[in-house]
Amino acid sequence: MALIVHKYGGTSMGSTERIRQVAKRVAKWARAGHQLVVVPSAMSGETNRLLGLAKELAPASSDDSYRRELDMLAATGEQASSALLAIALQAEGLSSVSYAGWQVPIRTDSAYTKARIEAIDDTRVRADLAAGRVVIVTGFQGVDAQGNITTLGRGGSDTSAVAVAAAMKASECLIYTDVDGVYTTDPRVVPEARRLRTVSFEEMLEMASMGSKVLQIRSVEFAGKYRVPMRVLSSFTPWDIDIVEEASSGTLITFEDDEHMEQAIVSGIAFNRDEAKISLLGVPDKPGIAYQILGAVADANIEVDVIIQNISKDGKTDFSFTVNRVDYARSMELLKTRVLPGLGAQEVVGDAKICKVSIVGIGMRSHVGIASKMFRCLSEEGINIQMISTSEIKTSVVIDEKYMELAVRALHKAFDLDQPPA
Ligand code: ASP
Ligand code: MG
Repeated sequence: MALIVHKYGGTSMGSTERIRQVAKRVAKWARAGHQLVVVPSAMSGETNRLLGLAKELAPASSDDSYRRELDMLAATGEQASSALLAIALQAEGLSSVSYAGWQVPIRTDSAYTKARIEAIDDTRVRADLAAGRVVIVTGFQGVDAQGNITTLGRGGSDTSAVAVAAAMKASECLIYTDVDGVYTTDPRVVPEARRLRTVSFEEMLEMASMGSKVLQIRSVEFAGKYRVPMRVLSSFTPWDIDIVEEASSGTLITFEDDEHMEQAIVSGIAFNRDEAKISLLGVPDKPGIAYQILGAVADANIEVDVIIQNISKDGKTDFSFTVNRVDYARSMELLKTRVLPGLGAQEVVGDAKICKVSIVGIGMRSHVGIASKMFRCLSEEGINIQMISTSEIKTSVVIDEKYMELAVRALHKAFDLDQPPA
């Protein structure tokens, strides 16, 4: 008998019929003798619907002053789906109870719409489990020290589930979703993309931060920090498939010292279209320049990704960096009006039609020549690399957006990702 956390995403909870299927699946696990804590998302589309209503009443409803009420509002989506699941489980003949975040409680800070979990009290949930109940805990929400309802940011139910699993020391956190696992890259771009049986949590972190929408990035950070074994699997298999088969399906997120790990050097290709490049040309090469530029950007709450400063010629240098595409116009404006005048630089130029493509793999730590293989592959395709950044387990290039799919396909093939690892 094990304590297991199941998380069901919005599509998996998308209708009463889907909720019935989830209840049957959960009941199967409970009847096999496991203790179950289930964390559901809101029914698909519900969070958007609720936030849309707020927008109708206040077009600027994403402004700071509305955030508390937005959380109060959005949290109802998960409260409804959780109660419906408990009802469906009871109708299946199981004893079940649902809790909102504040009832557990799941304590968070007070950063409305992007709160962070600080502590989870497991007393109540444990008592229910001991009494033989399946416990449903709302995803996405918590309560701050003043008793205000908070939410964890879009996609936050993944993080709720992992945090609950960590707090309860669950033996596994199963993330049921509408895809059957984590792939070497997006199958819509590369049809030959393969499902990974395992992926290390560090690789998953890179892939999640690069726009793979499978898991909320914070949930992966949590899993890494608390070493929560986590598996991504499909909720669209028939609910009555063999439980042993189900328990080993999907993708297991592993730790490096784990014997289950696959030994590929590059595990996946990630890509992100949501970036834009900004360059300051003819910047005087002297101390304080990076701070003057990026300090101003950071003060405006704009996140910077890849940064490059070139060697100087005649005391001048060029300085380039990337930002989120949504922040592009604001960044350009800020640099032109507030940074450039005091900097003595020649001009600011930008390009919003770029993308970032990365190869990710922990094997890169112990193998040389991986990055150069990437560069050769891109050169053979005639793709110009505009920027490069590397970390221990990733090499990223910034290229023209129009070559993104070509680059991803070529790299997927060059690193034999369509072949199962030896
Ligand atoms: N319902 C929330 C959202 O749509 C949280 C989640 O589904 O994980 O973002
Ligand atoms: Mg999700």
